[in-house]
Amino acid sequence: MSKSNPAGSKERMAAALGEFLSSPPKGLPAEVIEAFGPTVKTDDGILPPRVFVEAVEQSSVAISITNTKAKILYANKAFEKLTGYKSEELVGKNQSILSYKVTPIEVYKDLWGHLLDQNSWNGVLVNKRKNGERYLADLTVAPVIGGNGETSYYLALHRDVTEVHELAQQVKNQKVLIESVVDAAPVVMALLNNEGKVILDNHDYKKLMGDLGVEPASVFLESLSDNIEADKNFSCGNRKGFINREVSIKNKNGIETRWFSCSGVWVNEKNIAADDYFTNTAECCLLLVANDITQQKRAQNQIKTNAMRALMAEQQLVHGMRETLSGAIFQLQAPLNMASAVINMMERRQENNHENHPFQSALVDVIRSGERVLNSLQKSLPPEDREAVTLVNVNEVIKDVIDLSIHRLLEHSVIVDWNPEPELNYISGRCYALRTLFKQLLDNAIDALDEPGCSRREIIIATRNINTGIELVLRDTGPGIAVDKRHSVFEPFYSDWQHVKGRPGMGLTIAMEMVQKHYGTIEIDPHYHTGCSIRIQLPLNPPESSTTEDSYE
Ligand code: FAD
Repeated sequence: MSKSNPAGSKERMAAALGEFLSSPPKGLPAEVIEAFGPTVKTDDGILPPRVFVEAVEQSSVAISITNTKAKILYANKAFEKLTGYKSEELVGKNQSILSYKVTPIEVYKDLWGHLLDQNSWNGVLVNKRKNGERYLADLTVAPVIGGNGETSYYLALHRDVTEVHELAQQVKNQKVLIESVVDAAPVVMALLNNEGKVILDNHDYKKLMGDLGVEPASVFLESLSDNIEADKNFSCGNRKGFINREVSIKNKNGIETRWFSCSGVWVNEKNIAADDYFTNTAECCLLLVANDITQQKRAQNQIKTNAMRALMAEQQLVHGMRETLSGAIFQLQAPLNMASAVINMMERRQENNHENHPFQSALVDVIRSGERVLNSLQKSLPPEDREAVTLVNVNEVIKDVIDLSIHRLLEHSVIVDWNPEPELNYISGRCYALRTLFKQLLDNAIDALDEPGCSRREIIIATRNINTGIELVLRDTGPGIAVDKRHSVFEPFYSDWQHVKGRPGMGLTIAMEMVQKHYGTIEIDPHYHTGCSIRIQLPLNPPESSTTEDSYE
């Protein structure tokens, strides 16, 4: 192993400097050569001047040294390669040899303005190579200031940034193109990062935000949380996404509901931070596309409501007929029973005095003819509905009936205050029967508001869960029902309306029958005095009921 000898090293360096100064590289300005003197004379870190020259020569950046008039004194190999000129073709020429005359004069003025103030300058110029080809030069020029404080030379570094510019421009163009396409698409679109923050959105998304008054993404994410959470167990590339999930949103007025069909696609976005250069990590983003299907949904609902209206009208007719005939049979039965009792009495007397009463045979004929009528009335009774028992959400039933009655409510200027229990228990019941029940009650309430002495026109409907099942209360601000009539109103053919005409008085009878079929109770609230308040309680599971069979007819 050889020992280092600093003294010997210094001597060698001094010899190297002497050699460099006596035969400097061709074209190297005298001031530059002089500048190496102090560099090599320091105690430590001594480098031979050739190393500095080599660093400039081998640099991948085009380097040139000019005088104060921009006359080229030196150009390195990278400069030759970039411009296509040989060094000897460049030395003595002005840097303007590279100028392609599309660079605005203001750029040169700015460049020279900085240099004259002894400041360095950086900017982009359009240059041309020896073969006429143009390129974009990212140029930095710095003044080299001499011992007298005057600028002696300019040092210039430039590189070809044509490709970088093209790529940046392409990215910009594509971004503008994508944004235009995304904006023109008649759907709501948003790209969300893994924290649910919107990083890209379109025109329809912004419009929806205006309509809702909140960030639509947060509303969508809440409704779609099941799908998104399920997907999060997988890596981004393997997430399934989702399609056509229906989401309903209320507008900021809180009244109008809008429906959207939502689809989500997971997109891998590569991280661009310097830290992630070697790790190749990516962020998993969600592309959310929501199609406004409010119109279709409304049309569907309209069709459903119309079908329901037709069905209910038919059912009401059948029920009405059934109840009317049943009432008539019931009422006819009473005199027939009385006549039969009279005949029995007559027959007993006849056994005693062996005398035939003159009206006896006529009365028998009347009874027989009455029985024939009863028989044919019974035969003409429409058959009872055989509707299956299912799990029913009474809130939905009420909502359907309110929708069905909306025209009538508007016609009669009635305000409906609807207070459903948010999580109302499902009951085992017959959907159509319950609809008929509720329709009867709502029709009665609207009729009541047309009666004399009614100033407020309001109907309050509320549901709630109770220990035994559910409770439904329907109140109107009409004249109410007098205490002595509260039993009679449930009897067939009872009608006591003052203004409302043409009602057979079967509504509450039918309502009562429907409630009884569900093993529930119906009552007129005795403590309510500003109108009529009907309270219905229905059990969750009526005795002997099953959800599949029609077992409690
Ligand atoms: P010019 O008449 O040369 O210049 C246009 C304007 O520049 C003039 O109106 C004037 O306002 C100003 N100007 C020019 N020369 C001077 C001066 N000596 N002092 C004060 N103001 C002056 N140009 C390129 O196009 N490409 C390059 O790569 C490039 N590299 C350069 C490197 C260095 C170190 C320096 C100092 C200059 C460089 N230039 C370069 C600028 C170049 O010297 C020319 O000024 C430019 O090319 C415009 O040339 P022109 O003949 O069209 O007009």
